[in-house]
Amino acid sequence: MPIRQLTDTMINQIAAGEVIERPASVVKELVENALDAGAGRIEVATAGGGLNLIRVIDDGSGIAEDELPLAVARHCTSKLSNDIHDIRSLGFRGEALPSIGAVARLVIRSRVRGAGSGSEIRVDGGSLSGPQPAPANPGTMVEVRDLFFATPARLKFMKGERAETSAVADTVKRIAVAFPQVRFTLTGGERTRLDLPAEAQGPDGMLGRLARVLGSEFAENALAVEAEREGVGLSARISIPSFTRANALHQYAYVNGRPVRDRQVAAAIRAAYADVLPRDRHAVAALFLTLDPALVDVNVHPAKADVRFRDPGLVRGLIIGAIRQSLAEAGIRPATSAAS
Ligand code: ADP
Ligand code: MG
Repeated sequence: MPIRQLTDTMINQIAAGEVIERPASVVKELVENALDAGAGRIEVATAGGGLNLIRVIDDGSGIAEDELPLAVARHCTSKLSNDIHDIRSLGFRGEALPSIGAVARLVIRSRVRGAGSGSEIRVDGGSLSGPQPAPANPGTMVEVRDLFFATPARLKFMKGERAETSAVADTVKRIAVAFPQVRFTLTGGERTRLDLPAEAQGPDGMLGRLARVLGSEFAENALAVEAEREGVGLSARISIPSFTRANALHQYAYVNGRPVRDRQVAAAIRAAYADVLPRDRHAVAALFLTLDPALVDVNVHPAKADVRFRDPGLVRGLIIGAIRQSLAEAGIRPATSAAS
Protein backbone atom coordinates (compact mmCIF):
# COMPACT_ATOMS: atom_id res chain seq x y z
CA MET A 1 0.00 0.00 0.00
CA PRO A 2 1.20 3.54 -0.71
CA ILE A 3 2.01 5.84 2.18
CA ARG A 4 -0.76 8.31 2.91
CA GLN A 5 -1.61 10.85 5.55
CA LEU A 6 -4.26 9.91 8.16
CA THR A 7 -7.44 11.99 8.11
CA ASP A 8 -8.03 14.45 10.94
CA THR A 9 -10.82 12.26 12.28
CA MET A 10 -8.55 9.20 12.35
CA ILE A 11 -5.80 11.20 14.07
CA ASN A 12 -8.29 12.43 16.66
CA GLN A 13 -9.67 8.94 17.22
CA ILE A 14 -6.18 7.61 17.78
CA ALA A 15 -5.47 10.42 20.25
CA ALA A 16 -8.81 9.75 21.94
CA GLY A 17 -7.62 6.22 22.64
CA GLU A 18 -5.04 7.71 24.98
CA VAL A 19 -6.83 10.72 26.46
CA ILE A 20 -10.34 9.33 26.71
CA GLU A 21 -10.27 5.90 28.24
CA ARG A 22 -13.75 5.88 29.77
CA PRO A 23 -16.53 8.29 30.81
CA ALA A 24 -14.53 9.40 33.86
CA SER A 25 -11.76 10.66 31.54
CA VAL A 26 -14.26 12.88 29.72
CA VAL A 27 -15.48 14.25 33.04
CA LYS A 28 -11.91 14.93 34.13
CA GLU A 29 -11.10 16.86 30.95
CA LEU A 30 -14.31 18.89 30.99
CA VAL A 31 -14.08 19.76 34.69
CA GLU A 32 -10.44 20.78 34.26
CA ASN A 33 -11.47 23.04 31.38
CA ALA A 34 -14.16 24.63 33.57
CA LEU A 35 -11.60 25.24 36.33
CA ASP A 36 -9.09 26.70 33.87
CA ALA A 37 -11.89 29.05 32.75
CA GLY A 38 -12.16 30.36 36.30
CA ALA A 39 -15.51 28.78 37.15
CA GLY A 40 -16.93 29.27 40.64
CA ARG A 41 -19.57 26.68 40.11
CA ILE A 42 -19.47 23.41 38.16
CA GLU A 43 -22.41 21.08 37.59
CA VAL A 44 -21.79 17.59 36.27
CA ALA A 45 -24.60 15.30 35.15
CA THR A 46 -24.36 11.82 33.68
CA ALA A 47 -26.75 9.19 32.38
CA GLY A 48 -25.99 5.55 31.72
CA GLY A 49 -22.68 5.74 33.57
CA GLY A 50 -21.69 8.61 31.29
CA LEU A 51 -21.91 6.48 28.13
CA ASN A 52 -25.31 7.92 27.18
CA LEU A 53 -24.72 11.45 28.42
CA ILE A 54 -22.19 13.63 30.20
CA ARG A 55 -23.03 17.28 30.71
CA VAL A 56 -20.77 19.81 32.39
CA ILE A 57 -22.01 23.35 33.02
CA ASP A 58 -19.76 26.11 34.33
CA ASP A 59 -19.97 29.82 35.02
CA GLY A 60 -16.47 30.49 33.75
CA SER A 61 -15.11 32.86 31.10
CA GLY A 62 -17.01 31.34 28.18
CA ILE A 63 -15.82 30.92 24.59
CA ALA A 64 -16.49 33.50 21.86
CA GLU A 65 -18.29 32.33 18.72
CA ASP A 66 -15.26 32.84 16.47
CA GLU A 67 -13.11 30.78 18.84
CA LEU A 68 -15.44 27.78 19.05
CA PRO A 69 -13.97 26.13 15.92
CA LEU A 70 -10.50 26.48 17.44
CA ALA A 71 -11.65 24.98 20.74
CA VAL A 72 -12.51 21.74 18.94
CA ALA A 73 -9.47 21.81 16.62
CA ARG A 74 -6.48 19.68 17.42
CA HIS A 75 -3.47 21.22 19.16
CA CYS A 76 -5.28 24.50 19.76
CA THR A 77 -5.12 25.87 23.27
CA SER A 78 -5.45 29.24 24.93
CA LYS A 79 -3.32 28.07 27.87
CA LEU A 80 0.25 27.80 26.75
CA SER A 81 2.55 30.72 26.20
CA ASN A 82 5.75 29.71 24.47
CA ASP A 83 7.27 27.52 27.12
CA ILE A 84 6.02 23.99 27.74
CA HIS A 85 7.93 24.00 31.03
CA ASP A 86 5.83 26.82 32.39
CA ILE A 87 2.45 25.15 32.89
CA ARG A 88 0.06 26.84 35.27
CA SER A 89 -3.25 25.50 33.98
CA LEU A 90 -4.67 22.01 34.26
CA GLY A 91 -4.92 21.70 30.47
CA PHE A 92 -2.31 22.64 27.91
CA ARG A 93 -2.30 20.01 25.16
CA GLY A 94 -5.34 21.13 23.18
CA GLU A 95 -6.39 17.53 22.72
CA ALA A 96 -9.43 16.85 24.87
CA LEU A 97 -12.25 18.47 22.90
CA PRO A 98 -11.16 17.28 19.43
CA SER A 99 -10.64 13.78 20.84
CA ILE A 100 -14.09 13.74 22.44
CA GLY A 101 -15.67 15.10 19.26
CA ALA A 102 -14.07 12.30 17.25
CA VAL A 103 -15.54 9.47 19.32
CA ALA A 104 -18.86 10.92 20.53
CA ARG A 105 -21.53 13.53 19.78
CA LEU A 106 -20.23 16.78 21.27
CA VAL A 107 -22.13 20.03 21.71
CA ILE A 108 -20.53 23.14 23.19
CA ARG A 109 -22.82 26.04 23.99
CA SER A 110 -21.20 29.11 25.47
CA ARG A 111 -21.56 32.76 26.23
CA VAL A 112 -18.64 34.98 27.12
CA ARG A 113 -19.07 36.76 30.44
CA GLY A 114 -20.58 40.14 29.75
CA ALA A 115 -21.62 39.29 26.17
CA GLY A 116 -25.24 39.74 25.15
CA SER A 117 -25.71 36.42 23.41
CA GLY A 118 -24.25 32.95 23.02
CA SER A 119 -23.37 30.44 20.36
CA GLU A 120 -22.86 26.72 19.87
CA ILE A 121 -20.82 24.24 17.87
CA ARG A 122 -21.31 20.51 17.30
CA VAL A 123 -18.91 17.74 16.46
CA ASP A 124 -20.53 14.43 15.68
CA GLY A 125 -18.05 11.56 15.30
CA GLY A 126 -15.56 14.02 13.81
CA SER A 127 -17.93 16.01 11.58
CA LEU A 128 -18.36 19.63 12.49
CA SER A 129 -21.39 21.90 12.33
CA GLY A 130 -21.59 25.52 13.36
CA PRO A 131 -20.70 27.72 15.04
CA GLN A 132 -24.06 29.41 15.13
CA PRO A 133 -25.91 31.71 17.52
CA ALA A 134 -27.72 29.89 20.33
CA PRO A 135 -29.33 30.87 23.60
CA ALA A 136 -26.83 30.32 26.38
CA ASN A 137 -26.22 31.34 29.96
CA PRO A 138 -22.92 33.08 30.76
CA GLY A 139 -20.26 30.39 30.93
CA THR A 140 -20.06 27.12 29.07
CA MET A 141 -22.14 23.99 28.71
CA VAL A 142 -20.51 20.94 27.19
CA GLU A 143 -22.65 17.95 26.36
CA VAL A 144 -21.26 14.59 25.29
CA ARG A 145 -23.68 11.94 24.06
CA ASP A 146 -23.14 8.37 22.91
CA LEU A 147 -19.51 8.16 23.98
CA PHE A 148 -17.47 5.76 21.79
CA PHE A 149 -20.30 5.28 19.28
CA ALA A 150 -17.68 6.01 16.61
CA THR A 151 -15.17 3.55 18.09
CA PRO A 152 -17.18 0.41 18.91
CA ALA A 153 -14.06 -1.56 19.84
CA ARG A 154 -13.49 0.79 22.79
CA LEU A 155 -17.14 0.71 23.77
CA LYS A 156 -16.85 -3.04 24.33
CA PHE A 157 -14.29 -2.48 27.08
CA MET A 158 -16.63 -0.46 29.29
CA LYS A 159 -17.49 -1.95 32.64
CA GLY A 160 -21.10 -1.85 33.82
CA GLU A 161 -23.01 1.36 34.39
CA ARG A 162 -22.39 1.24 38.14
CA ALA A 163 -18.64 0.90 37.78
CA GLU A 164 -18.48 3.81 35.32
CA THR A 165 -20.73 5.95 37.53
CA SER A 166 -18.53 5.38 40.53
CA ALA A 167 -15.36 6.11 38.52
CA VAL A 168 -16.97 9.43 37.53
CA ALA A 169 -17.73 10.23 41.16
CA ASP A 170 -14.17 9.34 42.20
CA THR A 171 -12.80 11.67 39.52
CA VAL A 172 -14.97 14.61 40.60
CA LYS A 173 -14.07 14.06 44.27
CA ARG A 174 -10.33 14.01 43.59
CA ILE A 175 -10.50 17.26 41.62
CA ALA A 176 -12.93 18.90 44.07
CA VAL A 177 -10.53 18.44 46.98
CA ALA A 178 -7.98 20.61 45.19
CA PHE A 179 -10.53 23.42 44.59
CA PRO A 180 -12.49 23.95 47.81
CA GLN A 181 -13.67 27.41 46.77
CA VAL A 182 -15.54 26.01 43.79
CA ARG A 183 -19.01 24.61 44.20
CA PHE A 184 -19.43 21.14 42.65
CA THR A 185 -22.55 19.10 42.06
CA LEU A 186 -22.75 15.67 40.48
CA THR A 187 -25.91 13.90 39.46
CA GLY A 188 -25.94 10.43 37.97
CA GLY A 189 -29.17 9.11 36.56
CA GLU A 190 -31.78 10.84 38.69
CA ARG A 191 -29.70 10.87 41.86
CA THR A 192 -27.62 13.62 43.38
CA ARG A 193 -24.29 11.96 44.11
CA LEU A 194 -22.29 14.93 45.30
CA ASP A 195 -23.23 18.38 46.47
CA LEU A 196 -20.20 20.30 47.64
CA PRO A 197 -20.80 23.91 48.63
CA ALA A 198 -18.09 26.48 48.03
CA GLU A 199 -15.81 26.63 51.06
CA ALA A 200 -13.98 29.62 52.46
CA GLN A 201 -10.42 30.47 51.40
CA GLY A 202 -7.64 29.02 53.49
CA PRO A 203 -6.97 25.95 55.63
CA ASP A 204 -10.47 25.76 57.12
CA GLY A 205 -12.00 25.64 53.67
CA MET A 206 -9.66 22.84 52.70
CA LEU A 207 -10.57 20.88 55.83
CA GLY A 208 -14.26 21.49 55.24
CA ARG A 209 -14.01 20.16 51.68
CA LEU A 210 -11.99 17.13 52.82
CA ALA A 211 -14.59 16.33 55.47
CA ARG A 212 -17.35 16.46 52.88
CA VAL A 213 -15.50 14.31 50.37
CA LEU A 214 -13.76 11.79 52.62
CA GLY A 215 -16.32 11.89 55.43
CA SER A 216 -16.46 13.73 58.75
CA GLU A 217 -15.21 10.54 60.43
CA PHE A 218 -11.99 10.88 58.48
CA ALA A 219 -11.64 14.47 59.60
CA GLU A 220 -12.04 13.33 63.22
CA ASN A 221 -9.49 10.55 62.84
CA ALA A 222 -6.85 12.42 60.90
CA LEU A 223 -3.46 13.79 61.83
CA ALA A 224 -1.91 16.87 60.28
CA VAL A 225 1.39 16.60 58.45
CA GLU A 226 3.44 19.64 57.51
CA ALA A 227 6.98 19.33 56.25
CA GLU A 228 9.49 20.85 53.90
CA ARG A 229 12.74 19.56 52.49
CA GLU A 230 15.00 21.18 49.91
CA GLY A 231 12.21 23.30 48.45
CA VAL A 232 9.61 20.52 48.35
CA GLY A 233 6.62 21.21 50.58
CA LEU A 234 4.25 18.61 51.96
CA SER A 235 0.95 19.31 53.63
CA ALA A 236 -1.29 16.36 54.39
CA ARG A 237 -4.06 14.85 56.44
CA ILE A 238 -3.52 11.19 57.22
CA SER A 239 -5.69 8.75 59.13
CA ILE A 240 -4.65 7.17 62.40
CA PRO A 241 -4.02 3.41 62.10
CA SER A 242 -7.38 2.53 63.67
CA PHE A 243 -9.14 4.26 60.76
CA THR A 244 -8.34 2.35 57.59
CA ARG A 245 -9.84 0.98 54.42
CA ALA A 246 -9.53 -2.30 52.53
CA ASN A 247 -8.02 -0.56 49.50
CA ALA A 248 -5.95 2.48 48.69
CA LEU A 249 -8.73 4.23 46.74
CA HIS A 250 -9.14 6.71 49.56
CA GLN A 251 -5.66 8.13 49.18
CA TYR A 252 -5.64 11.40 47.25
CA ALA A 253 -2.41 12.97 46.06
CA TYR A 254 -1.82 16.39 44.50
CA VAL A 255 1.24 17.94 42.96
CA ASN A 256 1.04 21.71 42.71
CA GLY A 257 -2.74 21.44 42.95
CA ARG A 258 -3.05 18.84 40.19
CA PRO A 259 -4.59 15.49 41.15
CA VAL A 260 -2.12 12.73 40.37
CA ARG A 261 -2.02 8.98 40.59
CA ASP A 262 1.51 8.23 41.40
CA ARG A 263 2.87 4.80 42.31
CA GLN A 264 5.81 6.30 44.13
CA VAL A 265 3.59 8.43 46.34
CA ALA A 266 1.35 5.43 47.05
CA ALA A 267 4.40 3.30 47.84
CA ALA A 268 5.78 5.97 50.17
CA ILE A 269 2.48 6.08 52.10
CA ARG A 270 2.54 2.29 52.41
CA ALA A 271 6.14 2.34 53.59
CA ALA A 272 5.39 5.04 56.17
CA TYR A 273 2.64 2.93 57.74
CA ALA A 274 4.43 -0.40 57.27
CA ASP A 275 5.13 -0.87 60.98
CA VAL A 276 1.72 0.18 62.26
CA LEU A 277 -0.72 -1.30 59.72
CA PRO A 278 -1.32 -4.85 58.56
CA ARG A 279 -0.54 -5.40 54.87
CA ASP A 280 -4.18 -5.62 53.83
CA ARG A 281 -5.25 -2.33 55.45
CA HIS A 282 -4.76 1.11 53.89
CA ALA A 283 -4.65 4.56 55.39
CA VAL A 284 -7.02 7.28 54.24
CA ALA A 285 -4.97 10.29 53.22
CA ALA A 286 -4.86 13.53 51.29
CA LEU A 287 -1.36 14.71 50.38
CA PHE A 288 -0.48 18.02 48.81
CA LEU A 289 3.03 18.39 47.42
CA THR A 290 4.29 21.75 46.27
CA LEU A 291 7.52 22.20 44.40
CA ASP A 292 9.15 24.25 41.70
CA PRO A 293 7.34 23.26 38.46
CA ALA A 294 10.75 22.78 36.86
CA LEU A 295 11.38 19.86 39.22
CA VAL A 296 8.40 17.82 38.10
CA ASP A 297 7.18 16.75 34.66
CA VAL A 298 3.40 16.49 34.26
CA ASN A 299 3.66 15.86 30.53
CA VAL A 300 4.31 12.13 30.86
CA HIS A 301 1.01 10.86 29.53
CA PRO A 302 -1.85 12.55 27.64
CA ALA A 303 -4.21 12.09 30.59
CA LYS A 304 -1.72 14.05 32.76
CA ALA A 305 -2.36 11.89 35.83
CA ASP A 306 1.21 10.62 35.93
CA VAL A 307 4.08 12.77 37.05
CA ARG A 308 7.80 12.33 37.09
CA PHE A 309 9.83 13.96 39.83
CA ARG A 310 13.35 15.15 39.11
CA ASP A 311 14.36 13.70 42.47
CA PRO A 312 11.98 10.86 43.37
CA GLY A 313 14.10 9.81 46.35
CA LEU A 314 13.71 13.25 47.93
CA VAL A 315 9.91 13.14 47.59
CA ARG A 316 9.72 9.60 48.92
CA GLY A 317 11.95 10.40 51.88
CA LEU A 318 9.96 13.53 52.66
CA ILE A 319 6.62 11.68 52.67
CA ILE A 320 7.85 8.73 54.73
CA GLY A 321 9.73 10.89 57.22
CA ALA A 322 6.88 13.37 57.72
CA ILE A 323 4.14 10.74 58.11
CA ARG A 324 6.23 8.71 60.56
CA GLN A 325 6.95 11.82 62.57
CA SER A 326 3.26 12.75 62.80
CA LEU A 327 2.37 9.21 63.85
CA ALA A 328 5.14 9.23 66.46
CA GLU A 329 4.09 12.64 67.82
CA ALA A 330 0.58 11.26 68.22
CA GLY A 331 2.08 8.44 70.28
CA ILE A 332 1.47 5.83 67.60
CA ARG A 333 4.30 3.34 67.55
CA PRO A 334 4.67 -0.16 66.17
CA ALA A 335 3.23 -2.78 68.52
CA THR A 336 6.59 -4.57 68.56
CA SER A 337 8.54 -1.53 69.72
CA ALA A 338 6.88 -1.68 73.14
CA ALA A 339 8.41 -5.10 73.71
CA SER A 340 11.87 -4.27 72.39
P1 ADP B 1 -6.68 22.43 26.60
O1 ADP B 1 -7.53 22.42 27.83
O2 ADP B 1 -5.48 21.54 26.72
O3 ADP B 1 -6.35 23.82 26.13
P2 ADP B 1 -9.07 21.42 25.31
O4 ADP B 1 -9.28 20.64 24.06
O5 ADP B 1 -9.52 20.78 26.58
O6 ADP B 1 -7.53 21.75 25.40
O7 ADP B 1 -9.78 22.83 25.16
C1 ADP B 1 -9.40 23.67 24.07
C2 ADP B 1 -9.64 25.15 24.39
O8 ADP B 1 -11.05 25.40 24.48
C3 ADP B 1 -9.08 25.61 25.71
O9 ADP B 1 -7.72 25.99 25.61
C4 ADP B 1 -9.98 26.80 26.04
O10 ADP B 1 -9.54 27.96 25.42
C5 ADP B 1 -11.31 26.41 25.43
N1 ADP B 1 -12.24 25.84 26.44
C6 ADP B 1 -12.54 24.52 26.62
N2 ADP B 1 -13.44 24.35 27.60
C7 ADP B 1 -13.74 25.58 28.09
C8 ADP B 1 -14.61 26.08 29.12
N3 ADP B 1 -15.37 25.26 29.87
N4 ADP B 1 -14.66 27.42 29.31
C9 ADP B 1 -13.91 28.26 28.56
N5 ADP B 1 -13.06 27.87 27.58
C10 ADP B 1 -12.98 26.54 27.33
MG1 MG C 1 -8.59 20.79 28.48
